[in-house]
Amino acid sequence: MRIAWVTSEVAPFSKTGGLGDVSGSLPRRLASMGHEVWVVSPWYATLGGPVAPYWIGDVEVPFDGGFDRAGVGTCSLDGVGHAFVGHADFSRDAPYGFDDDVRRFARFSRSVPAVCARLGFLPDVVHAHDWHAGFVPLVTERGWHLPPGWPGIATVFTIHNLQYQGIGALDEVVHWLRLPSSAKSSGLDHFGAANAMQAGIDHAHRVTTVSPTYAREIRTPAYGHGLDGTLRHVAGKLEGILNGLDLEAWDPLHDAAVAAPFGPDDPSPKRFAAAALTSRLGLEDARPVIGVVSRLADQKGIDTFLAAIPDLVEIGWNVALLGAGEAGLEAWAATEAVARPSRVAVTIGYDDALARSIYAGSAALAIPSRFEPCGLTQLIAMRYGTLPVARATGGLVDTIDDGATGFLYAGEGKAPFVDAARRAFAVVTHERLRREMQVHAMTQRFGWERSALAYERTYAAAMVEARSTGTIAQ
Ligand code: ADP
Repeated sequence: MRIAWVTSEVAPFSKTGGLGDVSGSLPRRLASMGHEVWVVSPWYATLGGPVAPYWIGDVEVPFDGGFDRAGVGTCSLDGVGHAFVGHADFSRDAPYGFDDDVRRFARFSRSVPAVCARLGFLPDVVHAHDWHAGFVPLVTERGWHLPPGWPGIATVFTIHNLQYQGIGALDEVVHWLRLPSSAKSSGLDHFGAANAMQAGIDHAHRVTTVSPTYAREIRTPAYGHGLDGTLRHVAGKLEGILNGLDLEAWDPLHDAAVAAPFGPDDPSPKRFAAAALTSRLGLEDARPVIGVVSRLADQKGIDTFLAAIPDLVEIGWNVALLGAGEAGLEAWAATEAVARPSRVAVTIGYDDALARSIYAGSAALAIPSRFEPCGLTQLIAMRYGTLPVARATGGLVDTIDDGATGFLYAGEGKAPFVDAARRAFAVVTHERLRREMQVHAMTQRFGWERSALAYERTYAAAMVEARSTGTIAQ
C-alpha cells in the first residue's frame, strides 16, 4: 500500500512526546513490510535528526480564500520518505503553544494533498494523527482544488490524546481550509465551534486510538473530554490498537547513555547504571531510585507524585524527576529538591540522555496518570528492568501485569499511589523478587509486529469503505 502518514511530530526530527516516538517507529515497520510510506510533518525551525531535508520546491496551497505558498523539503531515513512542509508559521522556537496554533495546523493539514502531488505520490490511505492533522480527512473528502485522484481517498484517523482538540471559529476555519460552506454543518461543528479532533473522528473512514482500554474509556463522560457522544456514535469504526516500542532505539544492551550494557539474560550490570545515576544527580548512595520522566501536565498526575515525595523518602526511596511543562508544577518540583537535596533530584527540561539514564538507573518509574491513552514510558521502563508504579488507566492497564511486571493501583490521590510505591520498595529491596520481576518485565515483547498487522487491516478496511462510499458530490 501507499501510505501518507500526517503528523505534527516525528522522531528523530521533532519529538515532544509519544506521538513523535510512534511516528518515528511504526512507519519504519510498515516500510519493512513492503509498504511505501511518506511521513508528512511541519518543517520546524527546531528540526533535529541525523539528516537534513533537501528543499525540492514550493507548492501552491489552497488556503484562506486564495492560494499560499509552502516549501517542501524531503529526505529518507530507514526506508521511509519524509516530507517537511515549510512556512514562516513553523519557523518558531517550539512546535506548539502559540495562540494561532489552529490556523498554523489548518495550513499544515491543507498543504498535504499538494505536497503529495509534488512528490508524485498518490496514497491509497492517508493516516492522520491527533487534532493537528484532524482537518485532513475532511479536506480530503470535501476540499476545493484537490489534485487528481484525491477526492474520496481512504482516510484513517488516530487519537493519541483526546484532551487537545484544536478549537477555532467555524466560519474562519471553513474559509482557511477552502471548504464549501456546507462544511459548516459537518463533523467539524461541535456546538457551534470548529473542532479539529471531532472533524478527524467524524470524517475518517476508520478511527483508531492507541490502546483497547482507552478506546473504551473515551466513550464515557469521565474520559471523553466532551467528545464521548461523538465517539459512541462512531463506535462501529473505532478500534484500540496498542502502541509498540522501537526496540532498537530503546535497548539497554546498546544504549550509549547506559553506563554498562545489560539485558534480560543478566540484568545485574543494571547496578552500575544505578550507581552512575545516583552520583550524577548527587543523591545519597545505596538507595533505590524511583524516577519520573514526563511532561509536567495535569494529565500525568504529577501533583500526586509531588505531594507523595515526603512519603516516598520516608519509605526509603531516592527520587529522580525529569520533566518540563506547567510552570506551577515546575516550581513545586524544584522546591521539593531544594528541601531534600540528597534524596530528591529534579531536572526541569527536555533531555533524552538523562531520560535514558533514569530509565536505566532507577529501580521503579512512577506513572500516576489521571488518564493515559497508551503511555510509552512504562514500556521503556520495563525494557530497562525498571518496574512501573502506575495508576490503572488506559494503556497502562493493557501493558502492565500487576505484581508480575510492575505495580498498578486504582483510585485517586496520593494514598493509593504511596501504597503501590511501598509494595514496589519491598520487591526492589529483596534480591530474588527484584530479579524475578525485572527479568519478567524485560522479556515482555512490546515491538510493533502485532500492531503493524492490525494497522494494515485497518487501512484495508478504510479502502473498502472509501470505495463503497465514493466521492461526496459538492
Ligand atoms: P506523552 O506522549 O503523553 O507525553 P508518552 O509516555 O506516550 O507520553 O511518551 C513520552 C515520551 O517522551 C517518552 O519517549 C519519554 O521518554 C519522552 N519524554 C517525556 N518527557 C521528557 C523529558 N523531559 N526529557 C526527555 N524525554 C522525555
